[in-house]
Amino acid sequence: MAGKSPQFEILDAPQSSEVTRKPLFGMDRAALSALMVEMAEPAWRGHQLAEAMYSQRVATLEEVTTLPLALRRRMAEAGWEVGRPAIVQVFRSMDGTERYLVQGKARPEAVPDTVETVWMPEGDDGEAGDGSQEAGDGSEADPSAGPAPRAPLRRATICVSSQVGCAVNCQFCLTAKLGLQRNLAAGEIAGQVVAVLDRQGAEIGKDRLNLVFMGMGEPLLNYDNFIGAVRLLVEEVGLSPLRMTVSTSGIVPGIERFALEPAEIRPKLAISLNAPNDTVRSEVMPVNQKWPIEAVVDAVRKVRLRPRERITFEYVLLGGVTDQPEHAREVARLVRRTGLPAKVNLIAWNPGPGIPYEMPRPEAVDAFRAILAAESVPVYLRKPRGRDIYAACGQLKRTVEA
Ligand code: SF4
Repeated sequence: MAGKSPQFEILDAPQSSEVTRKPLFGMDRAALSALMVEMAEPAWRGHQLAEAMYSQRVATLEEVTTLPLALRRRMAEAGWEVGRPAIVQVFRSMDGTERYLVQGKARPEAVPDTVETVWMPEGDDGEAGDGSQEAGDGSEADPSAGPAPRAPLRRATICVSSQVGCAVNCQFCLTAKLGLQRNLAAGEIAGQVVAVLDRQGAEIGKDRLNLVFMGMGEPLLNYDNFIGAVRLLVEEVGLSPLRMTVSTSGIVPGIERFALEPAEIRPKLAISLNAPNDTVRSEVMPVNQKWPIEAVVDAVRKVRLRPRERITFEYVLLGGVTDQPEHAREVARLVRRTGLPAKVNLIAWNPGPGIPYEMPRPEAVDAFRAILAAESVPVYLRKPRGRDIYAACGQLKRTVEA
């Protein structure tokens, strides 16, 4: 569906209503069953609702045909609706990447606001070398499968937001300019994924779907909702935590909580490092003043890694600031010193309006990568995706002026 030039389209805005709407999307089976019991129905009706919303991806109560019509009417009269976040605007890149403005419905009393979600049809190689390939939970899409609105996928990556805006204030990041507007509810986080899967006609278990919590916001500063969304996505939607990666700027208490999560739902962990030492890191990421590199690494050591799993260190190359050969050598020493099974993902910085950095020169990127490789540090270069529609790393900001 890639066009010759960047495009965007506005989809129909969700209908508003006089009644106070109560979203079902985001509730787990236990909560849905409890609601059914409250409405004098058997608890298993809650399972039917969960099946419909999370497996069949229905977006309205009318479509939940496993529930009796009279019950659906009673629920609607009481203000209940599926309330899944809706894609309200689509920006399409020349490279096939799509950036969406997604309107959450989980807080109907709130002023309508949107977050950004990105679909990368071939991923960006961010998951390379981190154990995903061995996960064995995906396969090639069946080319003979029924009519589909898109070619069969080999793999795709969805980048999800966890907050509206962000409080962390990384100096190279466009989202930081928004400040923190609010946390997303679990249903609003998981709903971005389900809305995109629905739009793309993706097939769970056939398509190789990777999920990265690397959109707007710091997931570990909205911990309960982030992990609640992961639970829904694993237990109800059927995605594998081995194909999910959460990236953090280094929120130590959050990493320590994350380390306690059971392996069945724990995504992989990426640390947004972005600098070779504390001095530079504190400049580009003020959060480092509170939790310096060594404190972050100590917390990461508490995560019990699965066989072949690696910690990813994300590293944004800022021209002249973090991309010099001496920085590469320092990063290699730092990674080795952690003693962790790790890899480094390099990201050539993506420019954004009002951000006073320069893109690294291609030769600097190549040299940086070569130095890490020569020092036996596994290193991958993330492909820039959707730069022309402000979908690339660090570029997400609620905006329509792209
Ligand atoms: S890079 Fe991530 S953590 Fe840092 S300001 Fe941007 S969204 Fe927040």
